[in-house]
Amino acid sequence: MKIGCPKEIKPQEFRVGMTPNAVKEAVAQGHQVVVETQAGIGAGFTDADYEAAGAVILGTADEVFAQAEMIVKVKEPQPVERKRLREGQILFTYLHLAPDPEQTRDLLDSGVTAIAYETVTDDRGGLPLLAPMSEVAGRLAPQVGAWTLQKANGGRGVLLGGVPGVAPARVLVIGGGVVGTHAARVAAGMGADVTVIDRSVNRLRYLDDVFGREFKNAYASAGNTIDLAREADMIIGAVLIPGAAAPKLISRAQLAELKPGAALVDVAIDQGGCFETSHATTHQDPVYEIDGIMHYCVANMPGAVARTSTLALGNATLPFLLALAGKGWKRACAEDRHLLAGLNTHAGKLTYAAVGAALGLPS
Ligand code: NAD
Repeated sequence: MKIGCPKEIKPQEFRVGMTPNAVKEAVAQGHQVVVETQAGIGAGFTDADYEAAGAVILGTADEVFAQAEMIVKVKEPQPVERKRLREGQILFTYLHLAPDPEQTRDLLDSGVTAIAYETVTDDRGGLPLLAPMSEVAGRLAPQVGAWTLQKANGGRGVLLGGVPGVAPARVLVIGGGVVGTHAARVAAGMGADVTVIDRSVNRLRYLDDVFGREFKNAYASAGNTIDLAREADMIIGAVLIPGAAAPKLISRAQLAELKPGAALVDVAIDQGGCFETSHATTHQDPVYEIDGIMHYCVANMPGAVARTSTLALGNATLPFLLALAGKGWKRACAEDRHLLAGLNTHAGKLTYAAVGAALGLPS
């Protein structure tokens, strides 16, 4: 199959759909790969890296879309990209169609067979192509929170790990899923005194079994949440209720009860955020202050570490990409119900019920 990897054009997106190593594996399996010039530059991959891996570099996105039978990307196609898609072509990327009727309409009009990273499933009930980005955001959260806590950045001037004779910072992580667990491990590794709270007792059992010596855990009742928040120098919001907006777990009024200069890192901001005072920010201007409390609410945290994120995403997408290229989408999806779960549109039809329900369209 001829696989195409265009340069991402969404503002501030530096990741790329295929790494040179992914190209190498695809070429070794007999596929051709065309890559738009400079596609990988934001993630540190040059055209020469792709050529050495066996790709053909093309000068424009138009050529990549015109030639490729399957397009591999990171972000949802932008309007100009959607015009280039066609029936019989496979699109493999993040889509997030449920809140996006315009994109859904354009994909249906194009007839493209669109497989969305975020709805591919695994045997353990997880989302294997979302998990790597949660791992990245989770591990990044204490790092950006530590920066936010520095005095010059508006924080309370507390060092996460403390020093001999001075207690470390206290970190509260709300939600002990993928983001929360990775955040807690890094914060604990930096020497902080960490507590993770969750509403799933089974999840707390797991955290206690596996990480009981690294960080504490507690049940996320409303009472526990504010009691622990009052003591915290940094609070990381990492909750998820699938398919729903994040619950607001700290209200504006409660900010007055927090330590002045405390840092709130709301990773759940892409689902609306779990603090009442959260609103989405960008990497250019990531932090703002309300009532003396610093808020970091960047909605695309993995973009800050585009190279790590590209490599992590590439590891997770590669087996699916090779299956799609090797077998064609029909056989690949017929043989793997988890890949089939990723199928969102085909030949003008919506094939994912939750998107149909969200947009009031037949599926
Ligand atoms: P996950 O499903 O692995 O974990 C979520 C956890 O939250 C679960 O353990 C669940 O039991 C818990 N939870 C739900 N309601 C709760 C409550 N009221 N109190 C305490 N815990 C509660 O999800 P995840 O992959 O860790 O993702 C967490 C959030 O981070 C999601 O909103 C996700 O979209 C977001 N995220 C954001 C970025 C970013 O760049 N900002 C990147 C990746 C993920």
